Amino acid sequence: MNEMTRIAVQPAYSEGVQAFLKRKPQLFIDGQWVESSHGATIAVFDPSTGKEIAQVVDASDADVDRAVGAARRAFDDGRWSGLPPYQRQRLVEKLADLIEANMEELAEIESIDNGKPRAASMGYDLPKCVQALRYMAGWATKLNGEHVEPSGFPTGSVHAYIKREPVGVCAQIVPWNFPLMMAVQKIAPALSAGCTIVLKPAEQTPLSVLRLADLVAEAGIPAGVLNIITGNGETAGDRMVRSPHVDKVAFTGSTEVGKLINRAATDTLKRVTLELGGKSPVIVLPDVDIEKTARGAATSIFSNSGQVCIAGSRLFAHRDIFDSLIEAVASNAAQWQVGPSLDPNTRMGPLVSTEQHERVLGYIEAGRKEGASILCGGDTPGGDGYFVNPTILVDVKPEMKVVREEIFGPVLAATRYDDLDEVAKAANDTTYGLAASIWTRDVSAMHKLAGKLKAGMVWGNCASAADTSLPFGGYKQSGFGRESGRYGIEAYTEIKTVAIAL
Ligand code: NAD
Repeated sequence: MNEMTRIAVQPAYSEGVQAFLKRKPQLFIDGQWVESSHGATIAVFDPSTGKEIAQVVDASDADVDRAVGAARRAFDDGRWSGLPPYQRQRLVEKLADLIEANMEELAEIESIDNGKPRAASMGYDLPKCVQALRYMAGWATKLNGEHVEPSGFPTGSVHAYIKREPVGVCAQIVPWNFPLMMAVQKIAPALSAGCTIVLKPAEQTPLSVLRLADLVAEAGIPAGVLNIITGNGETAGDRMVRSPHVDKVAFTGSTEVGKLINRAATDTLKRVTLELGGKSPVIVLPDVDIEKTARGAATSIFSNSGQVCIAGSRLFAHRDIFDSLIEAVASNAAQWQVGPSLDPNTRMGPLVSTEQHERVLGYIEAGRKEGASILCGGDTPGGDGYFVNPTILVDVKPEMKVVREEIFGPVLAATRYDDLDEVAKAANDTTYGLAASIWTRDVSAMHKLAGKLKAGMVWGNCASAADTSLPFGGYKQSGFGRESGRYGIEAYTEIKTVAIAL
């Protein structure tokens, strides 16, 4: 360990997790753990220590085709979509129960794989998985179509109805920042709607999803309904997206890769939903409670070490309160104890990978070079893991890289503004449009501003109120389609119009 480090040592893993890490690299296809067609593997690291902890399969084209084939058969023979909806509901709920029963282990796996504090895995990611499954399971029995009286035929002469049918085989590709939660948020509506799935976690964080596969089998979800492929995005991910046997692609990840996927899916005109990056504004009006707002602004950017698509990475504070607010955010930043994921004192874990560590430090350096001042952080606290201190940049200009690009780290860029029109314009001056938060006691200003922001989600007086019942997704280059809520499950259906002349 680095001599100068202020970072605690990563506590030992539990015996159960150590045994899990020693498993042979395999894929979960057609309800079974199977060998890859070739021997290639990907090393998995604990970001808190920089040490390799496991190897997983780097799936070949043949592996992907096998998984897609299994999902295709499972869809086409109706073993899942043909079940009574109530039975699908029960099986999805059973998966939620099993996640709940294995929460401690899954949380530990998530934390050593991604780097997030165990308290966050236990208190946020895992409960959100359970909630998403239970919420979506309820839709299995309520996804109905409607009867319509056609407008251009004599009344009663044509019997017309609109059916919702499961879209089919879904390729689901997820990122590394909330590995299990992102996976489950995709699995839950797809399963509930009657679809079958091939899911690929990110190369950096495949472990929790692999453990989930055991629970899928234990829940009694039929073989082939949910298949798990580990592998590289450019190879295994691309193969999934291009497969002629896949009907829909659901992707969460970077805008850059989202564009590649959208292009690759075009040849077969697959249904595509994309949840991409963001550069979300936090807008603070002059009438706020400074301490409470500072806490919210800090939570918005420092949670999950800033590796959050909805992170409030651009703070706009009214000129009258800018200084007092930013001082309060900086003193809050000091309370985000940086450390290894399994240390109970840790509030902010490392970044996910050495690449991400370099990337984030590179952005801070670019900001410094372009003239931004570092109010706090801007460096690493040492240690062998990929740690970065919570960082606040001031004196930033709209054209700087740190203001324009998604950093995906604990780095806040703060600016002053004078009036609401000006701040709405500045907040919208981005290619992204995922989320925004507004902080004020002035209800009228809140609603007016909410109407002006080009963002898929606007939160008032909180860092985020993302919920499994509320549509989640972005405007502009933050993607298209919505996850969660009724819109989230409808995205896994096709609409069929049936009209019969009587
Ligand atoms: P990424 O785009 O690099 O990778 C995401 C996934 O895509 C991985 O599983 C990867 O293997 C796969 N992939 C990469 N290239 C591919 C290709 N050519 N074809 C098919 N699959 C491919 O993203 P990341 O770095 O893992 O995640 C961070 C990004 O995710 C950030 O930009 C963040 O904002 C975004 N994100 C968005 C949301 C949201 O809901 N909007 C949520 C979380 C993260």
